[in-house]
Amino acid sequence: MLLAGKVAIVTGASRGIGRAIAIDLAANGAKVVVNYQNSAAAAAEVVETIRAQGGEATAVQADVRAFAAAKGLIETAVQTYGQLDILVNNAGTTRDMLLPMMSEEDWDVVIDTNLKSVFNCCKAAVRPMIRRKQGGRIINISSVVGLVGQGGQANYAASKAGIIGFTKSLAKELGGRQITVNAVAPGFFPTALTAVLSDEMVQKAIAHTPLGRLGELPEVAYLVTFLASDRAAFITGEVIRVDGGIGIS
Ligand code: NAP
Repeated sequence: MLLAGKVAIVTGASRGIGRAIAIDLAANGAKVVVNYQNSAAAAAEVVETIRAQGGEATAVQADVRAFAAAKGLIETAVQTYGQLDILVNNAGTTRDMLLPMMSEEDWDVVIDTNLKSVFNCCKAAVRPMIRRKQGGRIINISSVVGLVGQGGQANYAASKAGIIGFTKSLAKELGGRQITVNAVAPGFFPTALTAVLSDEMVQKAIAHTPLGRLGELPEVAYLVTFLASDRAAFITGEVIRVDGGIGIS
């Protein structure tokens, strides 16, 4: 039980990568707040799955694009479980479009969902973490696209690259408090986010992946659980790819 006695929030945990992270954190002993925006039934299913495994979890609706909602999410976690040790900023979305056709709304929705949400949740979480004087873990889900860019994803790439600069800066601010801040950069994983891509694009991604396959959702979760644990106490400001090697090809 790597995370016994710890309390975690995972944003966007109703499905996909966030769901896998919430389930693995709970399997390792953390009490988990399963955040979602719209998918109440899916979030309830994640909570049920965790409870069926003997874990503890609760679902909390919050649109993390809004600071007030993000603050409410953090406060609910602290009220429910008495503390906050681990924040995983995972909520994300895409609005892919070549730049000439990309609308201002396409830009704003992606930046607000993927990047402003990280500012919102971190700003709200840092105070209770510092006050408790027990250190903490912040793990931000970036993307390989934030490292190498991708045509048709200027908004998404900017948001994910922004997360990396934010992560390194906050790691410097919070190091003295023993709060680590790291980013995880997944490659290609089969979720609702990537289901919109054509089979041709998926095959192309696999062909460019040295390990020759898509990722499996728990493979991101295992890295997040490690970073959230005491075993990763001396790792901060880092960006770790979990991508089958696509980022080096
Ligand atoms: P997904 O299946 O589409 O799930 C997105 C999650 O984010 C859902 O739980 C959704 O909640 C939540 N969400 C969206 N907007 C939100 C908001 N404003 N407030 C709160 N929650 C919100 O996506 P995914 O593929 O698992 O992606 C998860 C993260 O991994 C994202 O940050 C994504 O950029 C990153 N990533 C994914 C891949 C990949 O290949 N899939 C690769 C690299 C990085 P509702 O269900 O309630 O809408």
